[in-house]
Amino acid sequence: MNKAVTFARQLGVPVIGIIENMSGFICPKCGTEVNIFKIGGGQKIAEKFAVPFLGRIPIDPEICSYSDNGIPFITGRPNSAATKTFMEIVKKIET
Ligand SMILES: [Zn+2]
Repeated sequence: MNKAVTFARQLGVPVIGIIENMSGFICPKCGTEVNIFKIGGGQKIAEKFAVPFLGRIPIDPEICSYSDNGIPFITGRPNSAATKTFMEIVKKIET
């Protein structure tokens, strides 16, 4: 993500914020969040480059299966944690 921000700035592309992707896995059986990968990296980079931190999208294997079938995940799974986070990020970008 460091490289992506630096590259965007070199090209003059505005960086509207940082999204931490694949951030935590929410167990479909009990709802417990498990941090498979290191979390908090997005927040640190946002602070370093002084850009807004927009949110953390959890890992959801269904994002892949919906995409593969040509169905937007947010319409297929409107009540999932990933969709809720995604929509919160959209609101932040729109305002
Ligand atoms: Zn569980």
